[in-house]
Amino acid sequence: MTAWCRFTRVKFCLLFIIFVSHSLHAQLDKSSEKLRLKKLDAYSHLAATTIYNWNNQTDIDNDQIKTKIENLQIQTDDTSEGVIFRHLLATGTANETESPRVPIYVRSPLLESHWNELKSLNPDLYAAARAYYIYARAVNDFKGSSQRINETVPALRRLKREVLETENKTATAIASIWLAMELTLANPIQAINEIEYALPHLPARSSRLTLENALDNDTAHEWLRIAFTELSVPSRAYFHSMKIVEGSTQNDDVVTWAYYTAIDSLLLQAKYEEALFISEKAIELVKNRNSKANVFLIFYQKLRVLIMGFRVTHDSQIRSIVSEMEAIGASQFETVPEELVYLYQSYKAIVENNEQQLSLAVKKYENSVLNSASSSEFKSQYLLRKELELTRIYDIAGDYEKAYAHSKAYNQLLFKKNTEQFKFSASNFSDGIAKDVELAHYRQKELNVLRDEKEGLSTDKEAMKTIIFALVVTILAILALWLWISKRQSDLLAERDSLTGALTRRAMLNSLKKSLNDNKTSCIALLDVDNFKKINDRYGHTVGDEVLTTFTQIIQNRIRKSDKLCRYGGEEFLIYFSDSDQQSAKRILDELNMTLSRQKHWRHTNEKFSVSFSSGLLNVNGETNLDTIIKACDELLYKAKRTGRARVEAYAF
Ligand code: GH3
Ligand code: MG
Ligand code: MG
Repeated sequence: MTAWCRFTRVKFCLLFIIFVSHSLHAQLDKSSEKLRLKKLDAYSHLAATTIYNWNNQTDIDNDQIKTKIENLQIQTDDTSEGVIFRHLLATGTANETESPRVPIYVRSPLLESHWNELKSLNPDLYAAARAYYIYARAVNDFKGSSQRINETVPALRRLKREVLETENKTATAIASIWLAMELTLANPIQAINEIEYALPHLPARSSRLTLENALDNDTAHEWLRIAFTELSVPSRAYFHSMKIVEGSTQNDDVVTWAYYTAIDSLLLQAKYEEALFISEKAIELVKNRNSKANVFLIFYQKLRVLIMGFRVTHDSQIRSIVSEMEAIGASQFETVPEELVYLYQSYKAIVENNEQQLSLAVKKYENSVLNSASSSEFKSQYLLRKELELTRIYDIAGDYEKAYAHSKAYNQLLFKKNTEQFKFSASNFSDGIAKDVELAHYRQKELNVLRDEKEGLSTDKEAMKTIIFALVVTILAILALWLWISKRQSDLLAERDSLTGALTRRAMLNSLKKSLNDNKTSCIALLDVDNFKKINDRYGHTVGDEVLTTFTQIIQNRIRKSDKLCRYGGEEFLIYFSDSDQQSAKRILDELNMTLSRQKHWRHTNEKFSVSFSSGLLNVNGETNLDTIIKACDELLYKAKRTGRARVEAYAF
């Protein structure tokens, strides 16, 4: 297998391992996120259950809630949702002194980072949880006073705006309906706008209560029903009442009150036939569900429908309803308001033609309303309602003077209230959330473009960084290479004699130390140019130099690559013949002298002459001591000079 093949195989294996671990990771991430969302849902359910039922006389008691809290182990949950829900659960009863508090301890501060994590996990729950937290904190801070709206309304507006940026319609609607709840106290018209804004995107009623669905679609219709009734806009009150009736799987009370308002609204519009039809449908429903208080409420409305619209034709039916209602005995039910009982007694007095009874019932009714209004945040609504009811009662009773007085008072109050409230109103029944989400979407898009540009700039920056880094590396590499080459060159230069290019004495001796140990059958010759001084003297140093370089070249050309030549000093040279016996070395030396004798032309002089050399040749024969060898060569050379020059004196150890 080639190295490339092996490399590719390893690469594929690595890629496969990375892929498998990646998808495993993704799988694990997915299932752990699912588990987390499930946990969030359980917390949300717990929080809503606690808010609605803790310390309340409902079918879920405190002990059941305690068990739920323990089972979910929320007290020891260190995640963001753990912190958030501990705060949510604790805040609701934080100021409680008489009744028990929800048994939970916050343990650590609630930070913006916790909220942000929840927002990314479940925006709907984020909107609901944060809105509730704003509300609950303010209720505590203002000790239940309606002054809290100075804090809750701006905070909930900010929340709505923030959630809008997530482009999540349901989450926006949830923030909006919590804002509407608080606005009801400040400005009912703005509240109506806010509820209608939220309405198309609110969650539907669910049998399983959570923070997200605590204020749902039905709640919105219910609030609108109440708001329009209070504003005396019967057509819209009727519309929302019927929405609740039609679409809902609601509990008895809510449906009953929806029917109640629907009938009321029809009566205000003098639509008696429809009112009778609806009241009969309502009676059927509430009778089946068997709640006596609710039956009373609907009977009361049917009684009014019959009295107002069919008094002459349905007299016996009117009387039978009264006796049925007497049998029920309304005053014993807490869910029937006191005022309504007195109103019923007023109608009953009219039916029975009992004037004394009527004025007594009316008085009781008026006192009851004034009593309730004095302690209520909705005083003007109570007073308005009173004038309307009294107008109707006196009208039916035939006391037109009183009826007119109350009708005038009613119109004045209504005019005052509506002008005040419509001043703030910018009523818009279209799908406001969709528009706002679209706007937020564009804002988000713009932000993304800006972010991309910024990222682009930083990628450019990164690319620039990489280029600069590569350049620096390249420059450093070139520098290193250059240094290496120049060092090598200077090393080489140091090994070579500058005039002739032959090895220097030092380089030669170093290399000989190795060669002599490895190679036992080699020869060394010391050469000395004959009468060189005379050449210098006669032709000058330049010619002398030329002689030395030519001399070197002739030798280099003749000896083998494995042999070595060095300028030993001045006009003395040393030749190392590797793997050579004395005879062949001598032959070469003689040949060299022959060649030199034929070299007569010189570049730096017109005169013709030739040079020779004498040499001492030694067969080292295993001798490795350089001093001994050189000394011996020197002696041989000396002998060659003495015995006539231009010759070789040889010796073998
Ligand atoms: P012999 O035959 O006995 O060796 O006679 P010789 O003249 O060669 O003797 P000697 O060793 O006294 O002379 C060597 C001369 O070589 C002396 C010096 O001026 C000259 N010389 C040494 N190095 C160089 C060099 O690099 N260039 C030149 N032109 N002359 C040099
Ligand atoms: Mg010499
Ligand atoms: Mg010489």
